[in-house]
Amino acid sequence: MIWGLTREEGIYMQITAQQITQVNHQIEALISAGSFYGKKLESAGITRIHSQAEFEKLPFSQKSDLRDAYPLGLMAVPEEEIVRIHSSSGTTGTPVIIPYTAKDVEDWGIMFKRCYEFAGVTKRDRIHITPGYGLWTAGIGFQNGAEKLGAMVIPMGPGNTEKQLQMMKDMGSTVICATSSYALLLTEEIEKRGIRDQIKLKKGVIGSERWSDKMRKRISEGLGIELYDIYGLTEIYGPGIGINCSYNTGMHYWDDYLYIEIVDPVTLRPVPDGEMGEIVITTLVKEGAPLIRYRTHDLSRIIPGECPCGSKHPRLDTIMGRTDDMMKIKGVNVFPSQIEEILKSFPEVSSEYQIRISHLDGKDTMRIYVETNGSVNFLDLADRIAIKVKSVIGFTPLVKVVENGLLPRSEKKTKRVIDERYD
Ligand code: ZN
Repeated sequence: MIWGLTREEGIYMQITAQQITQVNHQIEALISAGSFYGKKLESAGITRIHSQAEFEKLPFSQKSDLRDAYPLGLMAVPEEEIVRIHSSSGTTGTPVIIPYTAKDVEDWGIMFKRCYEFAGVTKRDRIHITPGYGLWTAGIGFQNGAEKLGAMVIPMGPGNTEKQLQMMKDMGSTVICATSSYALLLTEEIEKRGIRDQIKLKKGVIGSERWSDKMRKRISEGLGIELYDIYGLTEIYGPGIGINCSYNTGMHYWDDYLYIEIVDPVTLRPVPDGEMGEIVITTLVKEGAPLIRYRTHDLSRIIPGECPCGSKHPRLDTIMGRTDDMMKIKGVNVFPSQIEEILKSFPEVSSEYQIRISHLDGKDTMRIYVETNGSVNFLDLADRIAIKVKSVIGFTPLVKVVENGLLPRSEKKTKRVIDERYD
């Protein structure tokens, strides 16, 4: 990692000479395998890169490219070197198949072991794994890393809460691996049964769906454990490519295996460190299915500077949502999750809100509707929220405060953002 090289407007993390060499090896492998990306490069006349600027001219890759390669078109080595495949959930049409060599499986295990170590998990721990086993990268990823660490694995998989709690008690599980929603369910069940004193959990390693601070607090206080956010996606090994340390200042990611950029999801140009954008990942040593500039559609930012823990591995902030949720207002990228986080810091407003964006007199405007009860001065509350939003987003919205119960509710997911500019 090298800091401090500036471009037009800000500080950017730079690709190192070693990473450039590694990218060139990935490019060679992709071209000689004749993969979709190899062909893209050949038609662009690129066979290697020498600089940051050349790296940033490399074409992006997308999930649709990976789908088009179904079933085994991503394979960049002879088939006899492939030891396993994983698949990402095909919620829309064709799934994506990712082939792994023995070294890929090994590298993933090393990264995952490092995640456990950053979370302070040791070989004396008993790791209770609830993510699913199978084509997914979830359960088996948690397991590989734990075995590499030398800890005792309790490979539960999901569901059957009764049995989960029984094993948790009998085996004295000290670490729970779960999604945030399942960790919350377990927290509630443990409280309901009044068995917290029989549970020995100390830490939770939680797969990073986007989850609120409120939920985090609920789980950590309910179970009396420390929580760690783990990041990853099937296309890039699986979970285990990054995790927060005990200082909880963002997720360290493994820059000896991956090069990460944050780009503006509209212009696709890299944004300065500290600014929110889409995570784009390049694998540096992957054999089975190398990926160059893979657009994850996950939103986050690089956290500038070094962590107090002393690790040189750079940090990504918690995932703030998906690029599909992004709105561009007055030239600024705004994510509903940012507004939601701000509103959560006002205990006097309900959890319902609505954002309306319109275009009036040649200008974009954002109106935020919130609810409260009659005991609060509406105008004063509106002012305080507007000031807070300006401090985070950079412009002042119109805030309208209404009585509790006035905003629309529906049984399905309530539509909270309404963009009236394109009606
Ligand atoms: Zn740290």
